[in-house]
Amino acid sequence: AATTALADYYQQQATAKPASMDAFWMPFTANKQFKAAPRLLASASGMHYRDVDGREILDACAGLWCVNAGHARPRIVEAVKRQIETLDFAPNFSMSSPLPFVLAQRLAELSPGDLNHVFFTNSGSESVDSALKIALAYHRARGDGQRTRLIGREKAYHGVGFGGISVGGLPNNRKWFGPLLPGTDHLRHTLDIQRNAFSQGLPAHGLELAEDLERLVALHDASTIAAVIIEPISGSAGVILPPDGYLQRIRQICDKHGILLIFDEVITGFGRVGKAFAAQRVGVTPDIITAAKGLSNGCVPMGAVLVSERIHQAFAQGADNAIDLFHGYTYSGHPLACAAALATLDTYAEENLFEKAIELGDYWQQAIHSLKGLPNVIDIRNYGLIGAIEFAPRDGAPGTRGFDVFNDAFHKGGMLTRVTGDVIALSPPLIIEKTHIDQIFERLADIIRGVA
Ligand code: PMP
Repeated sequence: AATTALADYYQQQATAKPASMDAFWMPFTANKQFKAAPRLLASASGMHYRDVDGREILDACAGLWCVNAGHARPRIVEAVKRQIETLDFAPNFSMSSPLPFVLAQRLAELSPGDLNHVFFTNSGSESVDSALKIALAYHRARGDGQRTRLIGREKAYHGVGFGGISVGGLPNNRKWFGPLLPGTDHLRHTLDIQRNAFSQGLPAHGLELAEDLERLVALHDASTIAAVIIEPISGSAGVILPPDGYLQRIRQICDKHGILLIFDEVITGFGRVGKAFAAQRVGVTPDIITAAKGLSNGCVPMGAVLVSERIHQAFAQGADNAIDLFHGYTYSGHPLACAAALATLDTYAEENLFEKAIELGDYWQQAIHSLKGLPNVIDIRNYGLIGAIEFAPRDGAPGTRGFDVFNDAFHKGGMLTRVTGDVIALSPPLIIEKTHIDQIFERLADIIRGVA
């Protein structure tokens, strides 16, 4: 029955609506509400989706912050097709295939500093949990195994693994799931609408929040702290930017106390802010980078953890026949994902897409800030080709106004955005042109007036 269903689906040119929507338990979704008024995408190309009713939807969020090269790019499509015909799967435990080596080398060349060694995963969540485990094992490998504390930040999103939600700082993602990892702590977040409302680029106020890390060092002693994990820009919490100088100061404090610094670049990686990684744009080199999303342009799941020479060296000291890291996934370095990623990196390079976020940055900034003054807009934030518009919550019902804008953007404006609470987040594919930027903000302005 299942194969007939797929054949039927393709025959109807992928626009068929499912006969029943009961069985699919959708992730991070108000399932009842969604199923009453679904938003169903059927196909995609370049800057646009088409929904099952045949309407064109302008993609203002690169899917879920991942389709940085735009949809269904021929080079990537070809690479995946060719790869599945050639080698559909290869184990990567104690054997491998050539592509993960080629891809890892490419990533090492793109990475900041000496982050020259790459561990492959299948998602951002897996990258985060892998990075936390690598940090703990690194200290232990060096005889410093009492360093076990992991520090994250309030409002941080580091995926949904137990490590990620433990260092993460979004209450809804934590409170349902028990005591989480012991020995975690959180720095304060850096969102300060009172002082920084409508800042353009990095906000001026809040550098002093980095001193939270010194406070935790004083409280717990540096000798117990393994790592600090930070999104250079918090995406999922609604695009929270680091105050000017904040990441530099965190780096200094980590260096002073022998604490590893992990940048979670699952959203900020691959051109979102004008360089391969945000680390390079802000001029701060972490010890570990977690990546996913734009790595494979979203079309085949893939994540990666990039680590420095120093960290890699610590694992290389055992006997030649000793396994150096007891960690991995069946699909680490999957050949389809590697092919998709290599073709994606080629596309970024050939079309200079990483530079687009700088070239178009001023235009984007002016366009998004043109919404200032619209009803209930209390803050607008931007950096590179990422941005957010925050609304005052409706009385007693935080989140409703944001959801209404999101919903109307889709149904009335033919546009895909992302909503968290009362924040509308935007992170378009990097192939965006000025005309698309104009469309996004003209449509949004209309919609925001409409939901007032
Ligand atoms: N880290 C960050 C910073 C993210 O934004 C996300 C996803 N939005 C993740 C981790 C988790 O990635 P995934 O959904 O691929 O597990």
